[in-house]
Amino acid sequence: MFIRNKFRNNLFIYYSSIFVVFTLLILSYLYSREKEFRISALNDELENTTKIVDSYIKTNSIAEKGNYILIDSIVKLLPQDSLRVTVVNQEGVVIFDSFVSDWGKMENHKNRPEIEGSLYSDFGTSVRKSATTGKEYYYYSKYFGSYYVRAAVVYNIKVVNFLKAKMYFLVLIIFSFFLIWLIMLLVTNKFSESIIRLKDFALKIGNNEPFDFNQKFPKNELGTISEELLVIYNNLLKTKNDLVNEREKLFSHLNALNEGIAFFSKDKVKILSNNNFIHYMNMISGELSVSGANFFRIEDFSKLNEFIDKQLQIEINSNQLPKFEYQLGKNGKFYKAQCVIFHDKNFEVILSDITELEQNRLIKQQMTSNIAHELKTPVSSVKGYLETLINDPAMPTDKQKYFIEKALAQSERLTNLINDIAIINRIEEAGSSFSVEKVPVRAIIEDVTNNFKSAIEARGIKVETENLENAVVTGNRSLILSVFQNLLENAVNYAGDKSIIRIVLYNEDESFCRFLFSDNGIGIEEEHLPRVFERFYRIDSGRSRKSGGTGLGLAIVKNAILIHKGEISVRNRTGGGVEFLFSLPK
Ligand code: ATP
Ligand code: MG
Repeated sequence: MFIRNKFRNNLFIYYSSIFVVFTLLILSYLYSREKEFRISALNDELENTTKIVDSYIKTNSIAEKGNYILIDSIVKLLPQDSLRVTVVNQEGVVIFDSFVSDWGKMENHKNRPEIEGSLYSDFGTSVRKSATTGKEYYYYSKYFGSYYVRAAVVYNIKVVNFLKAKMYFLVLIIFSFFLIWLIMLLVTNKFSESIIRLKDFALKIGNNEPFDFNQKFPKNELGTISEELLVIYNNLLKTKNDLVNEREKLFSHLNALNEGIAFFSKDKVKILSNNNFIHYMNMISGELSVSGANFFRIEDFSKLNEFIDKQLQIEINSNQLPKFEYQLGKNGKFYKAQCVIFHDKNFEVILSDITELEQNRLIKQQMTSNIAHELKTPVSSVKGYLETLINDPAMPTDKQKYFIEKALAQSERLTNLINDIAIINRIEEAGSSFSVEKVPVRAIIEDVTNNFKSAIEARGIKVETENLENAVVTGNRSLILSVFQNLLENAVNYAGDKSIIRIVLYNEDESFCRFLFSDNGIGIEEEHLPRVFERFYRIDSGRSRKSGGTGLGLAIVKNAILIHKGEISVRNRTGGGVEFLFSLPK
């Protein structure tokens, strides 16, 4: 409410002060006019008095006789109250004074301003306190050849008297003041309404309070300003919201990135970073930081730091932003640190976990050399057998047949090897874009056991299944087939004669079927267990050598299961033999 009136209060103060100044100006003008008028009237009146006194002196030849005391009788006849008449001779000696009886004792009046003034001009006047009466007098003096006649009255042109005289004028002024104020109130009412609305609007917006944006403003300039402000404000609000949205998008985008990314200002103060940046930073430094502020103190980033320091000092080429990257390994993990300096010398640092990439690269490298190695053996045996055959044309037929069969066996091994490599590559390249169908597990097991029928029978192996009647998984048929095929093949090859193979659906939930695949054979030594899923990993026992595997079987099994988002683990059974536990999607 106070603020509501403030505008009007201010207006009132301004208005009244202007009014008061004007009134005072007018009054003082009137006062000076009045004073002038009164003084000239006074002069006229006192001039008459002096003339009367003069002619009285002349008519009665008072000067010749020297009996100035007679003047008293004429003074008493004059109408003015407290009129003082003084006669002064040429030398300034007072020769009569109506107020003083022994004027002979009065001091010389030659230098009184009114006396001096009247010597050279028509008359002389002066206002001053009388030493004799103590009152303020208006003195008027006129020179009549041999003497001066001075008349004086109490000077009473006072402001109070003047104001009293001008009472009607003051009442008029006060009346018109209030009249004008009333008119102003009416006029400003409309005006202040707009201002108050504008003020409410500004206050509410400033305090983030709800505001009715549909309200109408008065139809005047202020109203238009308010409406325009509203439009501007709305635009601003929209821009602000858009900006917030964009910022949020950017943030969630940054946080969704696999890379750790941070932006720094040119004085190396962090502007923005995502969660991964802090995470990788902590992983690399081994410390625990939540802000990233001490990034440049970490020893592992000193190379980056040097690069940045150097770049911040030199001019940046507009076509090519300076970039720098290097790899670092820490605790068995590999990271790539990258840095880009922008034109304004702000810069970004990107940290990425390239462990998997790096491991894949190492594995690929290993695999290529393994493949070469694995291919070399059968190829050189085939070559050896064929050379023997060519170099000895006289070889007996049964011996020739023996070498040819050997060569054939080796080339078959080659074919298997190449097939396995092809499968692994296919799994890796295809990612999850395999064709998927419902696969009944029972039928698959039947197919696979048929493939190894002769070996199973020859070794007196028994295959038992449990709970598989209704087991249906969803996935790629040929991959699922190769899972069971490789597991069965291994069991047949390594478990030993008369062993029992069990395939059980031991658990299932909404999304996965969990299988157990076990045999009761020789098992795998604990030290080898963690590595059996690696490519080309074979346990160098006489048995595996003999069976001529390449060590790709379990790698294919694992990859095929992982690509279906399942899991696989292996362990030795307490009673002997190995046991694979794995899941496949329903
Ligand atoms: P491939 O399957 O490519 O012909 P492989 O059988 O040697 O060759 P994997 O199937 O990957 O290779 O098996 C790796 C190793 O694990 C085998 O060499 C074998 O020594 C051991 N192994 C696998 N399954 C069994 C098992 N059921 N019992 C004992 N050892 C096994
Ligand atoms: Mg195998």
